[in-house]
Amino acid sequence: MSHSPTLRLTEIYASIQGESSFAGVPCTFIRLTGCPLRCRWCDTAYAFAGGEEWTLADIVTKVLALKVPLVELTGGEPLAQVAAPELVRLLQAEGLQVLIETSGAEDIAVLPASTHVIMDLKCPGSGMEERNLWRNLEHLKPSDEIKFVLAHRADYDWARAVIAREDLAERFQVLFSCAWGLLAPKDLAAWLVEDPVRCRMQLQQHKYIWGPRAKGV
Ligand code: SF4
Repeated sequence: MSHSPTLRLTEIYASIQGESSFAGVPCTFIRLTGCPLRCRWCDTAYAFAGGEEWTLADIVTKVLALKVPLVELTGGEPLAQVAAPELVRLLQAEGLQVLIETSGAEDIAVLPASTHVIMDLKCPGSGMEERNLWRNLEHLKPSDEIKFVLAHRADYDWARAVIAREDLAERFQVLFSCAWGLLAPKDLAAWLVEDPVRCRMQLQQHKYIWGPRAKGV
């Protein structure tokens, strides 16, 4: 007997993309359940467990019903489930543009080349710095994005050093985010004005629109 591949999902919903170079663009989110990491400031711990098993076909049907041409796989950690790359392929075959947000701790080489990857590099303040899979940098495209979520000045200094060491600003799009409630946006803005780096400072738009604890938006 053959089994269709499934993924464990926490939620699927249409909203506004809240961060990255796609911020402000309508987007359907597929939030996969589970993550092997435990970032100190994680804002989606509700996706660590629970969820429901969905066939890939049912996920595609649901996404198409929402009629949004941009779709993002997120989590949790979407690449912690082996069927995630196949879902990306199926969505792309329907003509959808697919983004994936990943922690940077899983191998991104499993993804189709046309996937738009938004990959974290975990700063020391996350407590997960040792989980960065540095060889992923060899698989990112110039159009892909690297996100640093900063909890304090030491994270900012670490990110600056990594950007210089790996020449990231020349190779990829670089995003700087504030860990919610830990780093004030005006402090990050002041540091960047004083000491410019080629990056995009971003705020999590969905938290300003719907509040920091809202789910499914
Ligand atoms: S990688 Fe993402 S989902 Fe996992 S613990 Fe860190 S912030 Fe949370």
